[in-house]
Amino acid sequence: MSAPARSDSPARLEALIGALKAKSILTEEELAARQAQTDRASPEIGARMVARAWLDPEWRRRLLSDGSAAAEAMGVSMAGAPPLGVLEDTPQRHHLVVCTLCSCYPRAVLGYPPHWYKSFGFRARSVRDPRGVLAEWGTVLPEGVDIRVVDSTADYRWMVLPLRPDGTEGWSEDQLAAIVTRDALVGVALPKVPPAAAAA
Ligand code: FE
Repeated sequence: MSAPARSDSPARLEALIGALKAKSILTEEELAARQAQTDRASPEIGARMVARAWLDPEWRRRLLSDGSAAAEAMGVSMAGAPPLGVLEDTPQRHHLVVCTLCSCYPRAVLGYPPHWYKSFGFRARSVRDPRGVLAEWGTVLPEGVDIRVVDSTADYRWMVLPLRPDGTEGWSEDQLAAIVTRDALVGVALPKVPPAAAAA
């Protein structure tokens, strides 16, 4: 079966929402509340979670053992959202998050996914050639680093806890959070120290 034309999508979405409402699986209010929550969410939430993990070992343990509970502790409502898992990068292992099936993304802590995350190209090529895809982002990892591609699904959403870069010793949580980008939170980029900060 060929993929549906893009112009079919809004009609299909309306039909799906209509069916869910008709079966009392979803109400208009629930839909609006979830949409409002995603509208409010942004990668700044995930960046804050990472910065805190770089500074506080206890928080780091908490984040890695139960991402949803950690998000709740930061005031993010995870009610009804799929569980959030956090993938810990190490000097030997780098994680890349992809939804091979559609566009599952940890919206509660990162907001809406970027357009490329939903593209067929990114989804297919991340699995076949993660090293090549990362290189296109300017993320070149040493040969010895193992790249693990992790599928974000309807049942489990993932974000990455990247390595804290060198040159950030003594930085505050705000300073650290500022270098954790959306792209770093799904593993296509690494947090970088801006040249001005490195020179200071
Ligand atoms: Fe998906």
